Amino acid sequence: MTDTVLDLAGIGIGPFNMSVAAHLDSLPEVKAAFFDRRPTFNWHPGLMLPGAELQNSYLKDLVTAANPTSPWSFMAYLVRHKRFYKFLNCEFDAVYRKETAAYFKWVASSLPSLNFGHEAEQVSFDKDRFTVRFANGSNVQARSLSVGVGTTPSVPDCAAPWLSDTCFHASEIVFRKNALRGKKVAIIGGGQSGCEVFLDLINGAVGDQDRVLWFSRRPNFEPLDASAFTNEYFTPEYSDRFHPLPAALKTLKLAQQKLASDGASPSTLLAIYRRLYELTYLDGCQADLRLMPNREVVAIERQGNSYALTVRNHFDEQLATYHVEAIVLATGYATRTPACLDGLKGRMQFEGPDRYALNADYSVIWDGPASNRIYAVNASRHSHGIADPQMSIAAWRGATIVNSLLGRMHFDLELPPSLVRWGTEDGDTPAALIAEAAE
Ligand SMILES: Cc1cc2nc3c(=O)[nH]c(=O)nc-3n(C[C@H](O)[C@H](O)[C@H](O)COP(=O)(O)OP(=O)(O)OC[C@H]3O[C@@H](n4cnc5c(N)ncnc54)[C@H](O)[C@@H]3O)c2cc1C
Repeated sequence: MTDTVLDLAGIGIGPFNMSVAAHLDSLPEVKAAFFDRRPTFNWHPGLMLPGAELQNSYLKDLVTAANPTSPWSFMAYLVRHKRFYKFLNCEFDAVYRKETAAYFKWVASSLPSLNFGHEAEQVSFDKDRFTVRFANGSNVQARSLSVGVGTTPSVPDCAAPWLSDTCFHASEIVFRKNALRGKKVAIIGGGQSGCEVFLDLINGAVGDQDRVLWFSRRPNFEPLDASAFTNEYFTPEYSDRFHPLPAALKTLKLAQQKLASDGASPSTLLAIYRRLYELTYLDGCQADLRLMPNREVVAIERQGNSYALTVRNHFDEQLATYHVEAIVLATGYATRTPACLDGLKGRMQFEGPDRYALNADYSVIWDGPASNRIYAVNASRHSHGIADPQMSIAAWRGATIVNSLLGRMHFDLELPPSLVRWGTEDGDTPAALIAEAAE
């Protein structure tokens, strides 16, 4: 690497840091470079099952919400790839995830500020700059950082000892599907990933001897709520109102809003129901396909070549044991502070384990100079709201970070009044009401 001190070094190149990079591409005066440990960009390839769909609008891309004339929009991708009219003719209700992945890959292979094959191992700070050291022996210096390392697959404690070719996280299903052939399988988890894995297993040829047991802690196989007012949670206006709330209130609201972000797509649920109907009533299939909501897997034991799952049914509070030969853990993802920040952790503020204390501009509160910022993307669900881990406000957040870095409103992010009055506003306070009444 050169001796240049960058204005911004990005660690991790997923869609969220790529949004920052795409916005910065229109600002050549800002010296920025982004680094990813992978040799090349690939968007969640392990869960790219046939027919998988994006859960939100393709207009919620890397740039459009803040900079609709950027050359890095999804529309620009369609036009550049000569498929704009064909895409419209398809009248997609939802875009295939593989098309979104192709769009991201196009941006990733076009932006000159992106560098792959660089795993950040250690970050240090001295005087007025960070030094990022990479596993390949190189390093860079930068005034500010943007940490965008994504999330890590969550594995329940009871499954951790058994991780193997026959017990693995859903994020690897595409690579390990062959190991499930002819086996009796349990899927643990009833969110979107669990639905996609179950649908994939029953969409192929299903024999009478097959067994798929699908456990979900949720009381039913519940849909994502994407109705208009729920979608208000996925707007910058809501995030702006959410951020200043006390932590306890935020935790409560996140729990109330769980289905808005973690439910399954209604189209996937319908596809599962229809396929079960076809297999059961039209094909006379005798396979053991069991959908079991309200179930908490409390213990897993290995017994020879199979696993014994102890499961509590919260519908009737009974315990039962089930035997399978393979387990797919559709048990979600967790935010982790990357090990490369270990040396700085003592200087950063946290609201809990792996929960940075974040300013409104997504910079971590730390004891270093105010002009040296550590931004964090996909790490602010607890502080900015449920929209954080998905694409809805990614372009807006990316532009917020760029404005903060520049110290001016380069992108016009001034917010109009929200359609819903979430917070108590000045005019609503008792003093104002009393004054109004006295007039
Ligand atoms: C299967 C799946 C489907 C999804 N579908 C949708 C959807 O339909 N709609 C939606 O809005 N959201 C969706 N999401 C959620 C979210 O949009 C994606 O997870 C998105 O990829 C998050 O982007 P990211 O930039 O935070 O992280 P990631 O995409 O995970 O990228 C992080 C990058 O950081 C790199 N990295 C990690 N550590 C280091 C290091 N030390 N040094 C260098 N590089 C490092 C990794 O190699 C990785 O490339 C989905 C998520 C999953 C898992």
